[in-house]
Amino acid sequence: ISQMKKDPENLPVTKTFLKFDTVITIKLFGDKDADKHLQEIDQLLDRIDGQINMYNMQSVINQVNASAGKKAVTVPDETFRLVKKSMEYAHDTEGAFNPAIGALVKLWGIGNGGEHPPAEHLIEQAKSLSQYSDIELNENKSSIKLVKSGMSIDLGAIGKGYAADLIADYLRGEKVESALIDLGGSSITTIGSKPGGADWHIGIQEPDQLRGEDIGTIPLKNNTISTSGVYERYFVFDGIRYHHILDSKTGVPTRNGILSVTIIGGTAAAGDALTTAAIVKGLKEGISYLEKKTDTEGIFITEDKKIYITSGLHGKFKLTNPNYTLAT
Ligand code: ADP
Ligand code: MG
Ligand code: MG
Repeated sequence: ISQMKKDPENLPVTKTFLKFDTVITIKLFGDKDADKHLQEIDQLLDRIDGQINMYNMQSVINQVNASAGKKAVTVPDETFRLVKKSMEYAHDTEGAFNPAIGALVKLWGIGNGGEHPPAEHLIEQAKSLSQYSDIELNENKSSIKLVKSGMSIDLGAIGKGYAADLIADYLRGEKVESALIDLGGSSITTIGSKPGGADWHIGIQEPDQLRGEDIGTIPLKNNTISTSGVYERYFVFDGIRYHHILDSKTGVPTRNGILSVTIIGGTAAAGDALTTAAIVKGLKEGISYLEKKTDTEGIFITEDKKIYITSGLHGKFKLTNPNYTLAT
């Protein structure tokens, strides 16, 4: 996703943070307290990073993972709520989004040194350690227990969205009227409209050309958009591309012709989790899953350069790239 058009009339206060293993850009328009708000966001990001970043060895989630098979760990409220939400998305997507997928993610090591598919028996073993039903939540104690030793929670598919929601909640609470929150280009939340009342126009990234062209645009007002693609982290082995979104039912990266899924609406956390889930579900099941939800729309891009959109986007999504066709 990328932002379209710049508006020289209404220059925002812009700040970029390199946190969460990504580039985070906050733009505040007409905000008299912008400096204070950016400072608070800085702290909020550090707090969340310390809780849920699995690449931060000290993080709360890594403490939970280190106690797998041993004991329950009491966690801060924000961590608990995110894991609880993750479990809801896991149930709702019948495991297509799976927060217990850490063992499989580590085994494959995609984007993390992995160079070839692991042996079949190791995949089977990691699969058995990637069951979300083995995550036990205790609401009263605000504690999380991983039942089997070797299990781990992986919030990589939802964490950025969750952070975006917390930032948006904070800014809305501060009565900020116009802002743009961009986490790594893959999760964009807008607060209000552009100064002056116009919609934001958000570009949908072309999956083949990393960070290059857009395939189209979508108007957005006080809403959130999230994209997940199979083109960012992968290795190639024997001519096959193995990317970073895994189907925990098979234990291997999906290969169903989908290059990316974009979701508009709902919360940023839901969008982040459900884009990942929709890639795992595949085109047909993914579209019908989203059609059942009243607050979410989706854009699926396939290897044969077709774009599939859910019914609520007809007349809204604007195709701008001649190499793609809109399927009907
Ligand atoms: P991005 O990395 O662009 O935010 P995603 O939101 O799709 O993309 O998150 C992908 C990450 O989520 C992977 O790197 C891995 O850590 C984790 N993951 C992979 N497959 C799944 C899955 N089926 N369910 C939940 N998390 C997953
Ligand atoms: Mg995701
Ligand atoms: Mg994501």
